[in-house]
Amino acid sequence: MSWSGQVHVDPARLRGHPTEDMERKMSVQTDTMPHRAPAEPIAAEQHASDREKTRIVIVGGGAGGLELVTRLGTQLGRRHCDIVLVDRNRTHIWKPLLHEVATGSLDANLDEVGYRGHCRRWGYRYVFGAMETVDRNARELVIAPLLDEKGHEIVERHRIPYDFLVLAIGSEANDFETPGIREHCMLLDSRADADRFRNRLLNHCLRVSRAMSATPPREQFVNVAIVGAGATGVELAAELYNAAAALRHYGLEVFDETRLKVTLIEAAPRILPALPEKLSAAAKAELEKLGISVLTSTCIVAAEPDGFVTADGRHIHADIMLWVAGVKAPGILSEIEGLDTNRNGQLDVRPTLQTTRDGRIYAMGDCCHCHLPGADRPIPPRAQAAHQMAAVVADNVARAIRGKPLTNFVYRDKGSLVSLSRYSTVGNLMGNLVGGQLAVQGTIARLIYKSLYSMHLLAIHGWLKGVALIAVGTVHRIVRPRLKLH
Ligand SMILES: Cc1cc2nc3c(=O)[nH]c(=O)nc-3n(C[C@H](O)[C@H](O)[C@H](O)COP(=O)(O)OP(=O)(O)OC[C@H]3O[C@@H](n4cnc5c(N)ncnc54)[C@H](O)[C@@H]3O)c2cc1C
Repeated sequence: MSWSGQVHVDPARLRGHPTEDMERKMSVQTDTMPHRAPAEPIAAEQHASDREKTRIVIVGGGAGGLELVTRLGTQLGRRHCDIVLVDRNRTHIWKPLLHEVATGSLDANLDEVGYRGHCRRWGYRYVFGAMETVDRNARELVIAPLLDEKGHEIVERHRIPYDFLVLAIGSEANDFETPGIREHCMLLDSRADADRFRNRLLNHCLRVSRAMSATPPREQFVNVAIVGAGATGVELAAELYNAAAALRHYGLEVFDETRLKVTLIEAAPRILPALPEKLSAAAKAELEKLGISVLTSTCIVAAEPDGFVTADGRHIHADIMLWVAGVKAPGILSEIEGLDTNRNGQLDVRPTLQTTRDGRIYAMGDCCHCHLPGADRPIPPRAQAAHQMAAVVADNVARAIRGKPLTNFVYRDKGSLVSLSRYSTVGNLMGNLVGGQLAVQGTIARLIYKSLYSMHLLAIHGWLKGVALIAVGTVHRIVRPRLKLH
């Protein structure tokens, strides 16, 4: 995509920014934005009025967006910038924890972060609402009307003006237009999905437990079928056994893991295709040891109320059906006028993480399509990519405000780790420290896996509170019930 010309932040809003080159024109480039005359700089210590502040709007407070807004709040602060986070939820839960929330192994109430409390501490404003679209000409974000559970309007459709906009709205399940998926399958995109899954699972466990303790006892099972044996499907399958094994300690005396039948279905010839073959085989062996039926090279062509249909006409019976076979960007992104998206709906970005057509709009995390020059493939939709992008976007927005050249994103793949609950962890580590690529398994892999979440906590809470929360989390795991059943 070719783009040229200069973008200028409305200099009136930059007044008082503590930079040596406020009157200098901005170096962000685009082909759409008009040139504006620079304003007179004023003393750095003078507090800019709200109208004069640089308006930075971030949509999506997820794995990447919340880290970004924390950095921006720390680096730029309230004094000269009005930093606004928009999210359609009131709380944040780190998405890689969702499979643990779904099985009850993790109580999300303990780990979620309320945006209102967080924004007060970190120097940004939080707006509860869902982005509807972006009006690029007016430089305004359009927020959908907020409705209550009866459909009554609480807040009308409104607009938030921006000088810089960062889109970090993540991804959602891709059903590849397979018939019946939306009607009959559960997804694992949000806390609400995870809570729904857990409730459904518990209801079925109760049903089976009751049938087995009836006179005469009836032989019943909970059948769960999971489509997609990437990290999410594999982790969830193992976590289900961990939860089922613990249920007998929580009032379902006659229920144990032998009552659970999990089928993991994958279209590719092996599970965890992103990992080396040896590790994928080790993970498969571990899952089968637990009693999970792993079906590879099995393509699902439809979902029915009581199970999946395969391409060769088989019917796989299931009481609970979960679809985690791939992700795509939310559809609203491809409707933003004038921005380029790929066929997965992700916004095309330059190496600076600005969108290809508009230098004021950045995209990061799962919702962006970032194919760096010389790389074999685009950056994968992973928490570690979102984490690394947050640092570069924060830096580039600050640089753009100060009229400095932007830096390019460099992805450092640290490897992939997949947790098989308490049974094992497998993965590979990458980097100079381990001499290229190193396969890891067991306790070391488990500790590194856990450290990913710790890094997120440190990034969004700072060292002091982050370390305290990690310690509290460890204590909770010891003293609280192993399962959350409500
Ligand atoms: C079960 C599961 C396990 C995973 N495990 C791993 C793992 O082990 N390692 C790993 O690297 N990755 C893992 N991932 C992937 C990882 O979670 C994502 O890559 C990462 O969360 C992407 O971060 P993000 O900031 O782009 O989006 P998200 O973290 O998804 O955040 C998006 C945010 O945008 C908000 N939002 C969405 N639409 C709107 C809208 N219209 N208006 C306002 N707000 C909106 C959402 O509420 C959310 O807060 C896992 C994913 C899942 C589902």
